[in-house]
This record gives sequence, structure tokens and C-alpha cells, in this order.
Amino acid sequence: MNTMVSFRGVRKAYGSTEVLKGIDLDVQRGEVIALIGRSGSGKSTALRCVNGLERISGGSLEVCGHRLDAADVDLRALRLDVGIVFQSYNLFPHLTVQQNITLAPLKVRRTGRAEANELAAHVLDQVGLGARGAAYPHELSGGQQQRVAIARSLAMQPAVMLFDEVTSALDPELTGEVLRVMERLAHDGMTMLIVTHEMAFARSVARKVVFMNDGVIWEQGGAEMLASPRSTELQCFVGNGL
Ligand code: ADP
Ligand code: MG
Repeated sequence: MNTMVSFRGVRKAYGSTEVLKGIDLDVQRGEVIALIGRSGSGKSTALRCVNGLERISGGSLEVCGHRLDAADVDLRALRLDVGIVFQSYNLFPHLTVQQNITLAPLKVRRTGRAEANELAAHVLDQVGLGARGAAYPHELSGGQQQRVAIARSLAMQPAVMLFDEVTSALDPELTGEVLRVMERLAHDGMTMLIVTHEMAFARSVARKVVFMNDGVIWEQGGAEMLASPRSTELQCFVGNGL
């Protein structure tokens, strides 16, 4: 299986408001795609459909072999294959970093304690926080907490990772450390769909950039697209975003 995510004419409406108006997009194994666009253009909705937080209203969507338009879609199995990281890190404040990370492997994957601890050490190393397993979230900076949230997601060993503006809540001096972790994941071959406002990051990490506007894919291409947009909408967006 090399196509990990496949949108075909995907529509999503809330009541009479159509938010996704026919999305066609494939994400191949190991591909890193940056999803950009104005606020309200449907980026988060598209991501949330991929891990089943939203049901699509039309078209078809296949993710890691799971047909999400099917009536009997197994959301639990889907979410074992797809990790998602949000702007807010949502760590449990009363649990240590290590406990935050091992929680889902222990409970959901039924991983043994020793193996879960090994896994936690490994994913903490991946995000450059190997020494902080015993810390509580409040003892860490926002950037470190977000890296723990990424590690927590990695501990479930997902095949695809979704990132929704993971640096937007961070002070500017803390965004770099989080972006570097994502860069490394991309380099190591993780399949990633990244909603971001960081245009320099999108340009350097993504093989493909997808510009959403008003619920459709308005323009897509290689990172060079950001330097020479065809549509006035993307020109406008890039002009304001830089
Ligand atoms: P983006 O992430 O690009 O800012 P969203 O996907 O969050 O855009 O939202 C797209 C549109 O869908 C917006 O107009 C938003 O108000 C609307 N929307 C998002 N979630 C809901 C919801 N649960 N109910 C109704 N409208 C929603
Ligand atoms: Mg959003």
C-alpha cells in the first residue's frame, strides 16, 4: 500500500453550510504535504475527516486501507494508524511526561509496561527530550510540551501523522524547536499532512504544497509554487503571510 490517504470528491457540510466542496488529494507513503490557506478555508476540517473526528458528507475517503465513507468504519482501528497533533497539547497535568506517553500504548495497544517504557524513551529521544521523562508538563516550556505531545503520538507508531497548526500557540522563539522535530520526522520518512502558517517551513519541508480556499483546493504544486503563485488568491495569501 503506497497511497496512504486518498480524497475523492470529498464534501463536508455542517447543516446547510458546505465547508469542503469536493476535495481530491492523494498522500503517498513518506510524502510530506503542507496544507495552507486563510482561516476558515477548511484545512482543519479536512484533517479531522482523515482521522474520523468528522464524518464526510459526500465523496469517498480512504485512509491506510480504511474506507471512511463506509457505514461500518472502525474508528478505533483507524486511529491506531493515524496520529494527530493539535495547537493545544492537551497533556495530562497530573501525569509525568513518561506517563503521558505510555498511557495510550498501555491502555489501547495493551503494550507491556517494560516495552512501553522503552518506547517512551525512544520517542522522547526522537523529540530531543530524552532526559525529561520524569518531569511534569508544568515544568516544561510550551515548545517542550508540544514536543511531548508529538512524542505521545509517535508512541502509538502511526503510519500517518496529521499536524494542525502545532506552533500557532507558541512564542516565536519556541516554534523553531518544534519545527525541527517535524523536519527530522519528515527526513526519516514519516507520512505527514501539515497545516501550517509557517511559509518558510512549508517551503523547506514539504514536497507538495496545497493551497485551500473556500473549501476547495485552489492551487497545488511543489514548494516553488509559493514563490510564483498563479492565482491572485494565493498571491494575496503569500503576500500577507510573509
Ligand atoms: P481552517 O482550519 O482552514 O481555519 P476550518 O476547517 O476550521 O477552517 O473551518 C472551515 C469552516 O467550517 C469555517 O467557516 C468554520 O466556521 C466552519 N466550521 C468548522 N467546524 C464547524 C462546526 N463544528 N460546525 C459548524 N461550522 C463549522
Ligand atoms: Mg484550522
